[in-house]
Amino acid sequence: MKNIPVIDQLDIREKRVFIRVDFNVSMHDGQILDDTRIRDSLPTIEYALSQKAKIILASHLGRPKGQRNEKYTLLPVAEHLSDIMRREVILPEDCVGNAVKKLSHDLRDGQILLLENLRFHAEEEANDPLFAERLSGLGDIYIDDAFGCAHRAHASTVGMVKHFKVKGIGLLMKKELEFMGALIKNPQKPYLCILGGAKVSDKIGVIENMMNHVNAFIIGGGMAYTFLKAQGINVGKSLVEPEKIRQAEKILRKAKEKNIDFILPVDSIATPNLKEEPPRYEILRNGEDWKDWMGVDIGPESTTLFGQWIAKAKTIFWNGPMGVFEIPPFHTGTFEIARQISESKGVTVAGGGDSLAAIKQSGFEKRFTHLSTGGGASLEFLEGIELPGLKALETTTGQH
Ligand code: AMP
Repeated sequence: MKNIPVIDQLDIREKRVFIRVDFNVSMHDGQILDDTRIRDSLPTIEYALSQKAKIILASHLGRPKGQRNEKYTLLPVAEHLSDIMRREVILPEDCVGNAVKKLSHDLRDGQILLLENLRFHAEEEANDPLFAERLSGLGDIYIDDAFGCAHRAHASTVGMVKHFKVKGIGLLMKKELEFMGALIKNPQKPYLCILGGAKVSDKIGVIENMMNHVNAFIIGGGMAYTFLKAQGINVGKSLVEPEKIRQAEKILRKAKEKNIDFILPVDSIATPNLKEEPPRYEILRNGEDWKDWMGVDIGPESTTLFGQWIAKAKTIFWNGPMGVFEIPPFHTGTFEIARQISESKGVTVAGGGDSLAAIKQSGFEKRFTHLSTGGGASLEFLEGIELPGLKALETTTGQH
């Protein structure tokens, strides 16, 4: 990160500070299921309040597809933020327009305005220049504190940035970049990268780039079966991406050449049918007759094997569940891995919505060094891709 100032290095006193936050929380029937993203933004908001700034917060929520949709209003977020901060949070009808413009100009020192969902306008995701300019008119200073959105080139993360002379990142973004940066700059060895989740295709880029940094990979979840298949192991009806088998073979070969350990499950919990109630399952070892069952979790031997590597590692990055953790009892492998990582004395970082949900359900979340708020962003960061949100802050000079 070159020359991007942090909010506490800028003079924001009594200024209108536009802060792009990530309040894209999971909701059900208008109720917030997990407020971590809101709480993680508090240090930046509180710092701005301590400087008597006039605060304009902006976020998206869900996928309203460019239209106003009450299901995705930020009203529950505004109410929750107001409750936890014990302060008024003003939520206008929209995120742009004359009424919002007037509100932003009339804000008094220490007042908070939370704009309505940015994605009620298709122009946000299209990075429309006019929309970006309208947003930029709401603040004097721009702060990006939305690490989870930094891999998206949208109006609020990229397009509007060039309109500001004074701009920087918030305290959450700073923390994320410090922890994620440490994973690629001189991490303590042995360094272990644990990947799981449904698809190999989502994580090939990460595996390829992380080969330059780690000593070992552990692969679990659905993506493990493409690698097992690439080794000629029969995996029944497990999730396999046939068009990725060649690439999986290449990765396995490259890992061998580079002396990187590539650890795959040796057994699985398999079921004939994921929809059966109660679920029917058996432990199947690699090489046994899998009939046409599918692997839905790592088995007990794999858990023990993975645990031996986890115990040795001094740095661990984890993304993606080890099984279909949404359906008990297929969460067991994922929860066990969370427990084993939580007992590590090394640096332990996890990212990704599903992994974080599983870690929270397992009850071990406080024992991780860092839980990243960015799923896609943390993976792209580790892939070595420059995040557009940061690039915009580094390269544009600004007009006001
Ligand atoms: P991802 O978004 O790629 O991290 O994938 C998360 C999803 O992978 C979760 O919804 C899991 O249910 C799913 N998953 C994990 N293991 C398996 C598996 N063995 N078979 C099918 N889906 C899986």
